[in-house]
Amino acid sequence: MRLRSVSVGSEMAESVVEFAATEPWRTSDVPGTADRLMRLLPGLRGHRCDNGEGRTFAEELSDTELAHAFEHAALEVMALAGSPDTLRGETRWDFHADGRGVFRVRVAYDDDLVCLGALVLAERAVRAAVGGDEAHNLDVPQEVAALRALRRK
Ligand SMILES: [Zn+2]
Repeated sequence: MRLRSVSVGSEMAESVVEFAATEPWRTSDVPGTADRLMRLLPGLRGHRCDNGEGRTFAEELSDTELAHAFEHAALEVMALAGSPDTLRGETRWDFHADGRGVFRVRVAYDDDLVCLGALVLAERAVRAAVGGDEAHNLDVPQEVAALRALRRK
């Protein structure tokens, strides 16, 4: 998974996230991914998610797009860094228009610098969760403290 670009609008920031053809793009593709991400960001357990099937996000996380996991991870990191925990997001894709493996993830934000930092940290967290061992090298509380220092709002 690669965070290709971020466009910051007046209320939402849109990330373009892409996956190579050989890469996994669902949490269920690599066993343990959901558990590892939940350990990195335990607050994900309390997330709401409109998935149209009435599942909690914790249930949803076991088999969903990694881009969708990235969306929730970014929102969780922003909440940890002092943003309102009511911020919303959405993950969409149109492989016909954008190319196969390309997702568009939109998140609301309050502070643009915190948002950009949260998106980068969320990308690292998802990659670590998929990759397994790398998860040990990611110190989320330390990274979140650095994000808080960027806050201007
Ligand atoms: Zn969701």
